[in-house]
Amino acid sequence: MRLPEFEHSEPESLEEACEQLSRHKGEVNLIAGGTDLLASMKQRVKTPKYLVDIKTLPDLKSIRFDKMEGLKIGALVTHRELMTNREIREKYPVLAEAASVIGAPQLQAMGTIGGNLCLDTRCWFYNQSHWWRKAREACLKLGGNVCHVEDGGKCLAPYQGDMASALIALNAQIRLLKKGGEKTIPLKEFYTGNGKAPNILGEDEILTEVLVAVPAEKSGASYEKLRLRNAIDFPQAGAAVNMTLEDGSVCKKARVVINALGPSPQVVNNVDEVLGAKEIKDALVIEVAEAAYKEANPAETMPGSPEYRREMVKVLVKKSFQKALERARL
Ligand code: SF4
Repeated sequence: MRLPEFEHSEPESLEEACEQLSRHKGEVNLIAGGTDLLASMKQRVKTPKYLVDIKTLPDLKSIRFDKMEGLKIGALVTHRELMTNREIREKYPVLAEAASVIGAPQLQAMGTIGGNLCLDTRCWFYNQSHWWRKAREACLKLGGNVCHVEDGGKCLAPYQGDMASALIALNAQIRLLKKGGEKTIPLKEFYTGNGKAPNILGEDEILTEVLVAVPAEKSGASYEKLRLRNAIDFPQAGAAVNMTLEDGSVCKKARVVINALGPSPQVVNNVDEVLGAKEIKDALVIEVAEAAYKEANPAETMPGSPEYRREMVKVLVKKSFQKALERARL
């Protein structure tokens, strides 16, 4: 498949990039790694007239760690760089772990953390060639009035990035920049829960940086992913767990995030109540996995039945919990 025609620009600064995005609002896309956008353009799912290419901007390519301020990751840092960075592997192994299961080595070398967080939602009625799609009535995500998955008036296409759940488990924040202003928000608030417009990023806005606090003493985090082919695929389901221990085996605080089941990564409710400052035993881990299972509500938007993917949430949470516990005990 060929790319449609477009105009390509390489701004020399973030300010210039914001200015160009603002000038071409409505017909522009930002591009960095391009691993998702170019495939969508070939399928005519996206047909921007202008591409503002920021991959050569030096400002967004660093990984910095400070003992007081924590970790700052520029949006253009690639998955490969996350996997191999010494400080991330030592202090935030869950981030290296999540990056290591994204796509294939070629995609890890090209794809960026910013791109992964801004990934559009995916659905097997939407991510198809123009020829395939035009055989059916346009769905909500394409500007139509129907959903071919469920008749609920809302697009259920899942967000299938891997980095977001790991970062939300760590309570990460992100920086968003646009002409005339910058803001910092919790990553959790970035996602809308609507597959048609899955995040709040404005068309003239750039996600510039990811911020993660210094890990608490005796804490550990992990990410587990289910996919059809381990060598390449997007997640069919995923689970990230972050926990802090006290007295060696009592859980002081924990956060469980499940993903690829709906339009946003989901923080599982009531995990702290389930764990309730009790000594961690197998029965408690099973209770946490059951809590995640009850909240998971996948729709039929990809290969793998919703029932199977929901059942697998229990397995992913248990595995992730055990690994996070081992790391917290180190
Ligand atoms: Fe379209 Fe429904 Fe799939 Fe959303 S979930 S992309 S509206 S078919």
